[in-house]
Amino acid sequence: MALTHGAVSVALVALATPALPDTVALPLLVVAFLGGILPDLDIVADHRKTLHYPVGYSVLAFLLAVGYVVAPSGTLLLAAVLVGSAAVHTCSDVLAGSVEAEPWNPTTERAVYNHALGAWHRPRRYVRYSGAPEDWLLALVAAATAIRSPASGSTVEAALFWLVAVAGGYTLVRRRFSALSARFPSRLAAVLPAVTVEETESGATTVAIRFRS
Ligand SMILES: [Zn+2]
Repeated sequence: MALTHGAVSVALVALATPALPDTVALPLLVVAFLGGILPDLDIVADHRKTLHYPVGYSVLAFLLAVGYVVAPSGTLLLAAVLVGSAAVHTCSDVLAGSVEAEPWNPTTERAVYNHALGAWHRPRRYVRYSGAPEDWLLALVAAATAIRSPASGSTVEAALFWLVAVAGGYTLVRRRFSALSARFPSRLAAVLPAVTVEETESGATTVAIRFRS
């Protein structure tokens, strides 16, 4: 679940940073969250492949971190945190379930695509699927860790409380959600009339509309 990845990234950065003024800590934690959720935007494309680069993000994050050590700048640090969070996300996807629509009934052995190897990593299924109870528990632990750290101010803490609440709601409806979306198109098809258009040899066109009962 993207929210869990976001919370884990925020927790990692919060643990790595001491008490900083809000003006410094806030952008760091926000960028960590964004980097943690960004790879999952490929849910509308080839999920766990199009925006998932476990090797690419790791190498780039390392180079950005080296760059920051050599010539410290705020932009480099934010970029390193953004890409580093995406790296943690894509590498940790192997610990989760596979990519199919109902991962609690696994049919594939695809966890995350490795563009460097040109192959899929198999899922370890420690977290069985997005929205599983253990997924929410992980989000809760990550959020609590970040909240307890000195790096998070009141804004971040309030946001994390909301994150845990929304993730909890998602966990409650997750399995029904998928069943609903699978059932909806067939129900719709049963109600809508079937339309067929035929061209005859003489050039005339017939349109037949059939209503199903
Ligand atoms: Zn992912």
